[in-house]
Amino acid sequence: MLTLGLVGVLFVAILLPETGSTLPHHSTSLSLPLPVRDSSAEAVTMVDRAPQREWHELQIRSGDTLGKLLRDQGVSAAEVHALVTSDAALKELANLRVGDIVRVDVDEAGSLRAIERQISQVEILRGEFDGIQWQAEHIKREYERQVRYAEAVIEDSLFIAGQRAGMTDNLIMQLANIFAWDIDFILDIRQGDHFRLLYEELLLDGEKVGDGAILMAEFWNRDRKVSAFRFETAEGRTEYLDPLGNSMRREFIRTPVEFARISSRFNPNRRHPVLNTIRAHRGVDYAAPSGTPIRAAGDGRVEFVGVRGGYGNVVVIRHGQAYSTLYAHMRGFASGIRTGSRVRQGQTIGYVGMTGLASGPHLHYEFLVNGVHRNPLTVQLPKAQGIPEGERKAFLVQVNRLRNQLALYSEANTLALNDGR
Ligand SMILES: [Zn+2]
Repeated sequence: MLTLGLVGVLFVAILLPETGSTLPHHSTSLSLPLPVRDSSAEAVTMVDRAPQREWHELQIRSGDTLGKLLRDQGVSAAEVHALVTSDAALKELANLRVGDIVRVDVDEAGSLRAIERQISQVEILRGEFDGIQWQAEHIKREYERQVRYAEAVIEDSLFIAGQRAGMTDNLIMQLANIFAWDIDFILDIRQGDHFRLLYEELLLDGEKVGDGAILMAEFWNRDRKVSAFRFETAEGRTEYLDPLGNSMRREFIRTPVEFARISSRFNPNRRHPVLNTIRAHRGVDYAAPSGTPIRAAGDGRVEFVGVRGGYGNVVVIRHGQAYSTLYAHMRGFASGIRTGSRVRQGQTIGYVGMTGLASGPHLHYEFLVNGVHRNPLTVQLPKAQGIPEGERKAFLVQVNRLRNQLALYSEANTLALNDGR
């Protein structure tokens, strides 16, 4: 959900005019052959291929089915049937999409000996016939990971600076997501803001195949520096935390609808656009096309779903003891949203509409603290829970290790830059 929001942010960022900066251009990305991965570094498990196999690789085109594909290879319909009905796991073989890769081993007599489907870059589902029956095997490789370093000075937008530093769009979005709660990447960014980060690259057979996670990042926005460190808790939750172990996230997202424009602000003395009388406007209105998804501002429990007078279709969510949020004029509710159901932050709860008294499609959004309406745009949003107390020590060790690593890279990077001058 957040990612979607950032697509919006970055989209706007690209449109910002260039500033004609004279700053030195030193956006760089660097990779050092340092043994930097922590002890959990995975060994590369090579896909174990029986040497006698003669794989024939096929790519699925529109209209292909497993049956047709195999018959084209000379395999009988009875054999195809035996294959897909043998093992529940092998049914997945038939679930083909255009572009999928399937490999088959068919002997001279036209008998299918083995088949495998590439599920993802690292996953293979393989079936092998042992002469009596089919055996299914799920093979998963591990990515190799390499730590990389990037730094950049923002001259125009985060997006352009990131690209200049050799970061992919995906990685730039990860970075923006991490700091999204602290930095408004449209309004807060100034020329000369800069950042540096350590991240992982995913490789297979030594070739880069994708981005891993950002391990740590530092961002200088005007006069302040914000740092974030990735940490996986004992229960397997991945969080970005500040150096003290506080979460980078807030318990609430500020704007529960994407690609929206504020059409009316919190105002105790507003003239109501439909009723034409003075009526306090105790929320914020976001104009957005009818049908735009509305997201839960925070984790909570649905307290009310239904029609409420001039508010039309309404959802009220309770977030713990103190907080509740209200969403009005919805066109409809998302499936599964009922009184009492639990919702996660960012989950779609309904869609923008104009039910009740509304002059056009918009979301009317209210934020209440202890039953009192507060301005959703300015209310102080509490931080999400940080490091579990029992894991603080491990986290601080990791912070230190990452900081040292970053310092090494940064130094090497500066040397490389000076060399090049
Ligand atoms: Zn309103």
